[in-house]
Amino acid sequence: MGQGFDTKSVHVSMQREGIPTKVTPIHQSSAFTFKDLQDIENFYHGERDYLYSRVGNPNTDELGKAVAQLEEAPDGIATSSGLSAILIGVLAVAKAGDHIIASEDLYGGTYELLSEELTAFGIEVSFADFTEDLSPFLQDNTVLLYTESVTNPLLRVEDLTKVKEFADRYNLKVMVDNTFATPYLIQPYLQGVNLVVHSATKYLGGHSDITAGVLTGDSPLIKAARTKAINLGTNLSPFEAWLTVRGIKTLSVRMERHVRNAAALAEALKKHPALDKVYYPEFISERGNGAIVTIELKEDTNVEAFFQSLGWIKIVATLAGVETSASYPMGTSHRNMPEAALRQLGITKGIVRISVGLEDIADIIEMMTNALDQSQK
Ligand SMILES: *Cc1c(COP(=O)(O)O)cnc(C)c1O
Repeated sequence: MGQGFDTKSVHVSMQREGIPTKVTPIHQSSAFTFKDLQDIENFYHGERDYLYSRVGNPNTDELGKAVAQLEEAPDGIATSSGLSAILIGVLAVAKAGDHIIASEDLYGGTYELLSEELTAFGIEVSFADFTEDLSPFLQDNTVLLYTESVTNPLLRVEDLTKVKEFADRYNLKVMVDNTFATPYLIQPYLQGVNLVVHSATKYLGGHSDITAGVLTGDSPLIKAARTKAINLGTNLSPFEAWLTVRGIKTLSVRMERHVRNAAALAEALKKHPALDKVYYPEFISERGNGAIVTIELKEDTNVEAFFQSLGWIKIVATLAGVETSASYPMGTSHRNMPEAALRQLGITKGIVRISVGLEDIADIIEMMTNALDQSQK
């Protein structure tokens, strides 16, 4: 190596191959080096890994495989966000001229991705009530059913067995967003679903410090999705993949507490006079009924005063962090949904979604009860 300062500066990072780190190091590198031209050939023949991080990176691969293992699916890929994971998953199945039947009570961002962007790609989308018979929505070009295992924000638990039976009858693929349930509570792939998608931004990451997505499922579909991810540039950064893997290590212990606290909060709020309704699933799995509680404030309450009285409970447009937080679907995730669709779904001005955190349950109940009391003044 030359002795000039600039040469020394740019070659300052040392190779540390073979150091036995306890956790996977962060491979924060946009590209990987080759010994010679034969080594490049070896990459294209599958005899060595890694070329360029948009195409693949050890940390993002580690995350995709970790979630695939939790979902008991053969393969998985990590992406830059939940929405980009949904995008590449849908595009792995559907192309221009194809038709999708999607559940009408979807995460607002997914609703827009399907109704605005994918239709612009020439993919037809029908939104349907998945509790009803889907036959009237079937077309000759229908290829995919899309739904969420637990819906947002009203927490309807999808009957995946029924969805799968319908799909099999007409040779359709099924894709399920498992963000709210996580594989701790539901493993849709084991119920025959083809693709399971996550906003890893939520419980998988768990600490509100990353934006990421993961798609898992049938190997040929993940292979097709990987090509889409490369061509569309939906790769996740190595650092965020590393943080998400770190989060997953505590998924079970976090979920255990989230679920226990949520059940207790739902029970405690049931009789509060400020509320019309408490939404909390009756049954998700033997391990519990989820970590989100959605409440509906009565029409004559002051919703603004409720939010102003939340104290240490954070007001956010997300969920699933270690801290309890409250969000307002009408003001955030669902603000662009047509009014008729909102009314149909039961998303009113009084709907507040609470992401129950890991704090002492007595403190959570006290703060929420106080805020609800204030909404009545
Ligand atoms: C947040 C969320 C998404 C979108 O994920 P991003 O990581 O924000 O892109 C999709 N589905 C559900 C159920 C979500 O909660």
